[in-house]
Amino acid sequence: MPVYEYICDSCGKPFSLFLSYADYDIAEVTCPDCGSAEIRRKIRPIRVAVGEKARLQQLSEEAAGNDSSQMLGKVMRTIQQQSGRELPPDTNEALTRLEKGESPAEIDKDYD
Ligand SMILES: [Zn+2]
Repeated sequence: MPVYEYICDSCGKPFSLFLSYADYDIAEVTCPDCGSAEIRRKIRPIRVAVGEKARLQQLSEEAAGNDSSQMLGKVMRTIQQQSGRELPPDTNEALTRLEKGESPAEIDKDYD
């Protein structure tokens, strides 16, 4: 399950939530500290990607031997296209690098 990191615009405190993609679509996220709905997502694309990888590995057992960054990038790209949403630029860049075969660990270094 992906971890979504947020920061509260009212009190400035960061917090994290575990949400399934289904919950993320419907969740009304508020700050656990002050209850404000004025919150922003902090984008951590690779943390999400690596979490997804574990789940997708189960889904693609039959594609054994294809456990590569490119495979992960491809599957994530498919999910993104199916969702019909535009990715934030840095997430899109990370995904493009996965598709080129860079390892998530390499890419993650540039985001931490
Ligand atoms: Zn707050």
